[in-house]
Amino acid sequence: MKAREIRKKFLEYFQEHGHAIVKSSSLIPHDDPTLLFTNAGMNQFKRCFLGEEKRPYTRATTSQKCMRAGGKHNDLENVGYTARHHTFFEMLGNFSFGDYFKEEAIQFAWEFLTEHMGLPQDKLYATIHEGDAAMNLGPDQEAEGFWKRFLPEGRILKFPTKDNFWAMGDTGPCGPCSEILIDQGEAMGCGRPDCRPGCDCDRYLELWNLVFMQFNRTEDGVLHPLPKPSIDTGMGLERIAAVIQKVPSNYDTDLFAPMMEAIGALSGLRYGTDPEKDASFRVIADHGRAAAFLIGDGVLPSNEGRGYVLRRVIRRALRHGRFLGLDRPFLHQVVVAVMESMADTYPELLENKSYITKVILHEEERFSETLDHGLRLLQNEMNRLRDEGSHTVPGELIFKLYDTYGFPIDIVTDMARKMGMQVDEAGFEDRMEKQREQSRKHWKGSGEREISKAYRSLASQGVRTEFVGYEQLEAQARVL
Ligand code: ATP
Ligand code: MG
Ligand code: MG
Ligand code: MG
Repeated sequence: MKAREIRKKFLEYFQEHGHAIVKSSSLIPHDDPTLLFTNAGMNQFKRCFLGEEKRPYTRATTSQKCMRAGGKHNDLENVGYTARHHTFFEMLGNFSFGDYFKEEAIQFAWEFLTEHMGLPQDKLYATIHEGDAAMNLGPDQEAEGFWKRFLPEGRILKFPTKDNFWAMGDTGPCGPCSEILIDQGEAMGCGRPDCRPGCDCDRYLELWNLVFMQFNRTEDGVLHPLPKPSIDTGMGLERIAAVIQKVPSNYDTDLFAPMMEAIGALSGLRYGTDPEKDASFRVIADHGRAAAFLIGDGVLPSNEGRGYVLRRVIRRALRHGRFLGLDRPFLHQVVVAVMESMADTYPELLENKSYITKVILHEEERFSETLDHGLRLLQNEMNRLRDEGSHTVPGELIFKLYDTYGFPIDIVTDMARKMGMQVDEAGFEDRMEKQREQSRKHWKGSGEREISKAYRSLASQGVRTEFVGYEQLEAQARVL
């Protein structure tokens, strides 16, 4: 079954059970300063959970574009090295806004996975929240009771708050959760004798998280009960696709095949032949996909916030391109495979093809000049450190690479990983903070107030502006 068919079956299953199919929201959260990127299906419904907004439905289902790089949920450095993590991914979800609760949520998930996706019942596990005295919450016996209808006791496991209490960010809707895992067999595991569900390796794959939304956490850390208990679930499309397609990783599914082919064609190498090079294939495929979607949703590379995350993913992909011998701009070509293969679900990508490729090419050209200098310097320094018996890349060096060559820290981390070395992240952060302080001292105001005042006065005279960023990189607005 192709991923697109799984996506469709999921949405249709929930539609048949009274859910409205709602379109994915943008990767840039609308009107929510607490979030860097949309990181889960529930984001666009935050106000529904809080009881601040009423919609014409109380049940919804989505396939949501998500980005987990930076912010509370950050998987950037897992990418390439686990079979199951991406920066950009699609989350399938069903939601109840004060409608059904635990019983139906568990029933739906079980029925969909075992009857509609045909997953083997004897390989599935469920986890529940073991309770938390600090939150005044007992073990989730209710969820446990519902799971007992489907699973033997030994495959219902209790986990602490760290794993089984879900929160969108430091504030906002949250609640205990129940996750469904599938045992993919020993061959997928880490081989440690204590490898069991909850292990960090890929054997017991977390497929689906059912969140029992019960609280709103405010800035003071206090949990306020929501007006009505609700349901928020999320299942990674790429993960369920890997399981259904019986392949060892998300990157071996049909979702990634066109990108792996494109990278193979450009580099003359083949995915699946060399574990180290495969990691680079995965990083490039993932980051290229993320870059295409981010730019499609209006993000541009910059030195802060969302734009910096975009810059980081593009630069990290370029660095991995070098590992594959790709030393000329290539990423803007790889992303065409993303756009074409996702065009039926996300037609806006292909519509913005020339804009997206242009932005990526521009960033590639800008960075390649300095990438090689920086890499040479880093390699020499690491060799020297190793000869001196040190296993840590100092924060000062990481800062210099960042400041002079525009190296995001993850490029250094990747290189260090290959040499079996650590990075002094705290030292780097320290140095960054000092720089921030310096610039705060010298900051004379950005003039934004004046600019917005000028805009407002023009607007009051009937002057409108039009976004022209899709055709032009430099000028962002044209006065009509
Ligand atoms: P993990 O423990 O594997 O990092 P998570 O507990 O952080 O996952 P949730 O926040 O519960 O993930 O998100 C719901 C679902 O979204 C997960 O069960 C998984 O199927 C999927 N998912 C989460 N993070 C990623 C990711 N980085 N890449 C792909 N799918 C993901
Ligand atoms: Mg995670
Ligand atoms: Mg988890
Ligand atoms: Mg989870």
